[in-house]
Amino acid sequence: MDCLFCSIISGDIPSTKVYEDDMILAFKDINPVAPVHTIIIPKEHIDCANGVNAENSKYIAHIFEKIPEIAKLQGIDSYRIINNCGKDAGQTVMHLHFHLIGGVEMGEKIL
Ligand code: 5GP
Ligand code: ZN
Repeated sequence: MDCLFCSIISGDIPSTKVYEDDMILAFKDINPVAPVHTIIIPKEHIDCANGVNAENSKYIAHIFEKIPEIAKLQGIDSYRIINNCGKDAGQTVMHLHFHLIGGVEMGEKIL
């Protein structure tokens, strides 16, 4: 399967790693929108949030268990987590991922 983020997991495409364990990988977004902009992905390929099920939801739980640590590694404890699912939401890489964004005051508006 041709997947950009699976290629980043395998090391075929380089990335700037922030955190890695046996289930997840966090790396810096190539086109950051804020001082901290990290992409967090499960090491098992899941297309998008619509593909989460009872078998693979442990990856999502693990991501959220590790988010505070991943944020702290980058010097922040206040941040926004974004997941885009599908075309209308602007998902461009079809491997489920969470954007961890911070290091700047973002205000209260979501859109
Ligand atoms: P999406 O729009 O699918 O939610 O977000 C995909 C994100 O992946 C974008 O923010 C984009 O900048 C980032 N991205 C795309 N290609 C690469 C890449 O090759 N390396 C890294 N580090 N980030 C990428
Ligand atoms: Zn993938």
